Amino acid sequence: MQYLSTRGRVNGLSFKQAVMMGLADDGGLLLPAEIPRVNSGELEAWSRLAYPELAFQIISRYATDIPAADLKDLIDRSYATFTHPEVTPVVHRDGVYILELFHGPTLAFKDVALQFLGNLFEYLLRQNGEKMNIIGATSGDTGSAAIYGVRGKQNINIFILHPHGKVSPIQELQMTTVTDPNVFNLAIRGTFDDGQAIVKEIFGDVAFKQRHSLGAVNSINWARVLAQVVYYFYAWGRVHKDTSCKKINFSVPTGNFGDIFAGYIAKRMGLPIDQLILASNENNILSRFINHGDYSIGEVRPTPSPSMDIQKASNFERYLYYLLDGDSRALRKAMEDFNRDGKLEFSAEQLHSVQNEFAALTVDNEQTIATIGDFFRRTDYLLDPHTATGVHAAGKLGSGRYPTVCLATAHPAKFDQAVREATGREPQRPAGLAGIEQREQRCEIVDADTAVIKAYLAERAI
Ligand SMILES: *Cc1c(COP(=O)(O)O)cnc(C)c1O
Repeated sequence: MQYLSTRGRVNGLSFKQAVMMGLADDGGLLLPAEIPRVNSGELEAWSRLAYPELAFQIISRYATDIPAADLKDLIDRSYATFTHPEVTPVVHRDGVYILELFHGPTLAFKDVALQFLGNLFEYLLRQNGEKMNIIGATSGDTGSAAIYGVRGKQNINIFILHPHGKVSPIQELQMTTVTDPNVFNLAIRGTFDDGQAIVKEIFGDVAFKQRHSLGAVNSINWARVLAQVVYYFYAWGRVHKDTSCKKINFSVPTGNFGDIFAGYIAKRMGLPIDQLILASNENNILSRFINHGDYSIGEVRPTPSPSMDIQKASNFERYLYYLLDGDSRALRKAMEDFNRDGKLEFSAEQLHSVQNEFAALTVDNEQTIATIGDFFRRTDYLLDPHTATGVHAAGKLGSGRYPTVCLATAHPAKFDQAVREATGREPQRPAGLAGIEQREQRCEIVDADTAVIKAYLAERAI
């Protein structure tokens, strides 16, 4: 399998090269040159597999340059850290299926991809006799998941930028209490978008990137999207077993368009998905795009679901590439327009094709909290505020023709304040969070300034 850039100036990469490059050297995002199709016989057979076996079936179609035994070992180790035997179990409550993606070490779905990516990096670096300095920006959950993916690993340093004071207290502690010497936490005076822009700018300096062997963990890395494709197939298998339904819907709380894009890839591989429902919080650039063709940046607003407080969705370019039929020139022009004007316009025909793929809803702060409360009163099940946006959207937009799976992207204990406000209940803390407030912390507060961050990196890079 070969990989190419959305912007058309990088192609013919192997999977390993695509993973190591992260952001493409031409500023685009990497995609497989073709998407493998799965037939209904395979789909049936896959529905009987345990999670790591299924992950192997899917990932091996894209990672064709990694020997099977090595890939199996990487996958097995990555999911052995999950505390649930099914890795991502599906539960049925109040007419909807909930795909619990939060049983990894940091209690959010990002562990599914980042436990794998951490092991993959370590494997590839050892093979090539290389080292890597990972740099990433986080709105809260990516940072800790990435840190847990690589803490204590050989030949890797990790630098994570988070917006100072704008992540939940537990999210902050999950990052800053990891004191392994290869982990560097930077709290920037700015927003998540500032952090993401700094990271993009640093990666755009190809000389700097090569000098310091920079690597990416943001959802711009193809391996992350790939690892997330797996649980769409897994959930389909579980619901299919339960209902015999051939088609199902998914409702996905969305920020950077990474998770739902993995669902889109699953659909292109042949997974029978009827509706792909995108739930936005009040930072709703993506639902405005889908409902009105209006892709324009607004101000970032604080919400109870901070991991979705994003205006520039970094994975959107991947979808845009398919929407433009793989026309890299048109895509480059669109990205130039967007960077200049802060907005993109779409034809009626394009909008029609977007609406064929996705349904979308903006869920405001009040509705998010109300959904947590209502759902708890009806089912005794606590939703985290991100998951609640998806459950709310599923209730409003789900056609009722097919079962709907809502992706539960975080454990409620991670966002206990919103849960308390909605239900008056204290979510039970999983073992991993016990006593986290008492642990030693390490973090530096810095200006949201690319030059400052570059200097910091240059000094501490391995
Ligand atoms: C990151 C995150 C999201 C948004 O996922 P994207 O891939 O950025 O769309 C939703 N919920 C939680 C809990 C997250 O951590």
